[in-house]
Amino acid sequence: MSSEQSRELNPYENALKQLSDTAELISLDPDVHEMLRQPKRILSVSIPVKMDDGRVKNFQGYRVQYNDARGPFKGGIRYHPKVTLDEVKALAAWMTWKCSVVDLPYGGAKGGVICDPKNMSISEKEKVTRRFTAMIADFIGPYRDVPAPDVYTDPQTMAWILDTYSQIKGYQVPECVTGKPISLGGSEGRSNSTARGCVFCVREAAKVANIPLKGATAAIQGFGNAGSWSAIFLSEIGVKVLAVSDSKGGILSRGNGLDPRRVLEHKEKTGSVVGFNGTEEISNEELLELDVDILIPAALENAITAKNASKIRARIISEAANGPTTPEADKVLERNKVLLVPDILANAGGVAVSYLEWVQNLNRQHWTEDEVNQKLEQKIVSAFKSVLETSKRYNVSMRSGALAVAVQRVADAIKTLGIWP
Ligand code: NAD
Repeated sequence: MSSEQSRELNPYENALKQLSDTAELISLDPDVHEMLRQPKRILSVSIPVKMDDGRVKNFQGYRVQYNDARGPFKGGIRYHPKVTLDEVKALAAWMTWKCSVVDLPYGGAKGGVICDPKNMSISEKEKVTRRFTAMIADFIGPYRDVPAPDVYTDPQTMAWILDTYSQIKGYQVPECVTGKPISLGGSEGRSNSTARGCVFCVREAAKVANIPLKGATAAIQGFGNAGSWSAIFLSEIGVKVLAVSDSKGGILSRGNGLDPRRVLEHKEKTGSVVGFNGTEEISNEELLELDVDILIPAALENAITAKNASKIRARIISEAANGPTTPEADKVLERNKVLLVPDILANAGGVAVSYLEWVQNLNRQHWTEDEVNQKLEQKIVSAFKSVLETSKRYNVSMRSGALAVAVQRVADAIKTLGIWP
């Protein structure tokens, strides 16, 4: 890989580039820009775990707390063999902008553990989670930093965090984590809120681009939590989902498209979407370049780069994943008039309902799914409108508009708080 390519694919470089472009656009105070170029705190821990075979393995874990000017740090924890500190720093910066763009009273953070959860037993995953929690326990908590699920972590992982944190404190603290199982104070609607928010964004973008959704076509990369629910919600509003994929490959069904719930059953049975009855096998690269109206990248970073951006034919992209498009690719998509709803808005549904979960926990309440979904819709639609308005005012893309709204709010908070001492 050339050094230019590896720079293009470094998520933290990309987050900093987005920040400096935004700083220029909104004439950000250079002192605030300087402060926002680095996370406030980075925790790096080495997590010893006695594996099932009796040997001890050390796992590297990170919690990056980017900025908390607007409220407690907030962000998911990712388990993946390719986690890097730069990736976690980028994701923590994006969480800061995401919470700000949907106007949640939170800062931004992210966690990651370098491990291969697909090749670990449940007991090994539990040990990693509990020991990691214990090692960062002094720095998290309901008013400090509230973790949530991300790639390859789930409600069960959050239950282990909740239990470990509560054991250390000596009392039950359900509000220390979100994305919990409902039985432990999780919110109705949290499990599919990221996708619900992403599809609200598709709906709003389709109005702007004048594309009728009934009969429109879509392709979705990644068929985990965000991707599979996006497929289900899109098909519920009449969109034909022609192709989906996961880490093992993709499937395409021309004509009427796929039944996402049946694809999910197939994936649950076999471990992949590949091999679903009556479909053609395609690669993840081919999926991105399909001639569809709507494209949802819902896997990992750097799916759309300078290499393939010019081949994208979708008219709307709604980024369920974090950082799926590099800044170089952004320029190409903009030139080609693709309406792109950026990650910090398109996948903010997850953190928006996490916030609602936290509010319910703090008030010892439990709302119905309808109440939660209505509040979510109101938050996403109102953020979409302010981003659209800002991007029109500056005559820039929705990504630049979203960053402008988000960074400006964080900057206002920093300036009003001042620097102590
Ligand atoms: P998940 O673990 O449930 O699913 C990830 C999916 O991506 C799996 O289907 C996996 O097979 C697939 N995948 C992995 N590598 C791939 C590759 N190289 N090509 C194609 N597919 C690949 O994770 P998730 O929670 O759905 O998260 C997906 C993305 O959405 C991530 O970028 C995450 O940060 C973002 N996100 C998730 C949430 C949430 O609430 N789940 C919230 C905000 C953002």
